Amino acid sequence: MDIPITLGCYKCGSGDILILSKLKTSIVTCNSCHANLGKWGDIEASALRELTKIVKENLNDEFVG
Ligand SMILES: [Zn+2]
Repeated sequence: MDIPITLGCYKCGSGDILILSKLKTSIVTCNSCHANLGKWGDIEASALRELTKIVKENLNDEFVG
């Protein structure tokens, strides 16, 4: 199953983001447009939420189909 989650810049769409450290309070920036993308902890949490949603949807599809 493909996991269609890419951590990237919401402004320019680049996947080239700079994660200085994986501390929850560490600020993540975009390498292309230098946008401030927020704290790593927040980005990680929303990525995990998305991922959980997608996995559940895929499981439902497989059980229905
Ligand atoms: Zn960007």
